[in-house]
Amino acid sequence: MATQTIEKLRYERPVITSLNAGVTNKFGTKSLHAPLSHIDGVSVKEIIQKYGSPVFILSERKIRQTYREAYRAFTSRYPKVQFAWSYKTNYINAVCNVFHQEGCWAEVVSIFEYKKAIGNGVQGKNIIFNGPEKTDEDLLLAIQNDSLIHIDHLDELYQIIELTTKIKKRPRVAIRVNMDTGVYPMWDRFGFNYETGQAWDAINKIILTDKMDLVGLHCHIGTFMLSANAYAVAAIKLADLALGIKEKHKQNIEYIDLGGGFASKNTLKGSFLPGSDTIPTFDDYADAICSTLLNAGFTKENLPMLILESGRALIDEAGFLAGSVIANKRLSDGRRAIVMDMGVNLLFTSFWYDHRISPVEESGNHTENAVIYGPLCMNIDIVRESVTLPPLKKGDHAVIHTVGAYNMTQWMQFIAMRPNVVLIDTEGKTHVIRNRETVDDLNKMEVMPEHLKKFKL
Ligand SMILES: *Cc1c(COP(=O)(O)O)cnc(C)c1O
Repeated sequence: MATQTIEKLRYERPVITSLNAGVTNKFGTKSLHAPLSHIDGVSVKEIIQKYGSPVFILSERKIRQTYREAYRAFTSRYPKVQFAWSYKTNYINAVCNVFHQEGCWAEVVSIFEYKKAIGNGVQGKNIIFNGPEKTDEDLLLAIQNDSLIHIDHLDELYQIIELTTKIKKRPRVAIRVNMDTGVYPMWDRFGFNYETGQAWDAINKIILTDKMDLVGLHCHIGTFMLSANAYAVAAIKLADLALGIKEKHKQNIEYIDLGGGFASKNTLKGSFLPGSDTIPTFDDYADAICSTLLNAGFTKENLPMLILESGRALIDEAGFLAGSVIANKRLSDGRRAIVMDMGVNLLFTSFWYDHRISPVEESGNHTENAVIYGPLCMNIDIVRESVTLPPLKKGDHAVIHTVGAYNMTQWMQFIAMRPNVVLIDTEGKTHVIRNRETVDDLNKMEVMPEHLKKFKL
């Protein structure tokens, strides 16, 4: 009988290896966790000490730099380019005025934004009035001011035709066109459809009733568009309409407005790679749009002006939210949780972006995955489901990146008041551009009926 020998395994000394030492991972090195102590040379800690925690911080230098980059990408490829600042993306007046100083018109989607633009000194003729809701009063004001009215639906067209009986001026209008650009779901709830002939129907109605001037064609195909080619498709379809109008009605279209929607350098939830590595550049978008328009068949005389209403791509990166750690916790499943004083009340975009978070102070090499909660007494107040960070203790500070777009307009006055918004100017000086709200601000709007004023407990 053969004997079977089992070889004794060699003894190996046990070792302990740290799994989260911040070494290279698939996204690169630990620089992602490097502290951000200064923004444009200004100490974040000092800003928090001076203006409170949390605080929104905007870099004027970054806004101007990003705008100039976008402007150069388009003007180097096309002779007539005009940007119009999308007010709903961030309508704090100081922010709007940086864009207006740079040469941007205003693009608004409501009468209150319209009035803000007028208040900021934008000439009526340089305001584009978009959106599905415009009252008679709104439209009369826009017509009186020679603003560009972008018609969203037939009811609005009939409304304007009716208004022209009350006013001498001829309205200057464009139609918003929606279309299949190969990106789904299609945004077909705004404007007139290209493929079904709705757009032509509206064009013929406007031109043949002869009560207003059709000066432009507009589309806004979506937001955070990851395909530059979708814009080439949109441009060719609007160019086709413009050339068709020239042929059929012998009329020139002054401008083609391709709306906004360029992606910012944020990371969409569920993305494998950070947004900064994957999104198209301004040059990519400009290349797709400008070559298409230049090759569409326009003559030099009837080449339309190209209008762009880019919002998030121009401001997102210039915005930061700085705040403080309130507490550290261990959840029942062992995960680390950090409670910060900034939550979804201030960061609407955290519902679809994985915002990058940096500690402000230096805190060693050890890192651990953590869930980041905001201060709200509400379960969905989660800023990041899982992010690798060095240990942050109570009172430490952190900065959330790329929050300049849509947060300062969609923030909620739920549980907490809105904080100060601070602009760092190009010389490194800080300015409050929107004051923090107080209980008095809130109470000022409320009215107590007489019979509820007195009570005894
Ligand atoms: C919101 C909006 C924009 C700006 O969109 P971004 O995605 O922020 O660039 C431009 N035009 C219209 C009509 C809009 O509604």
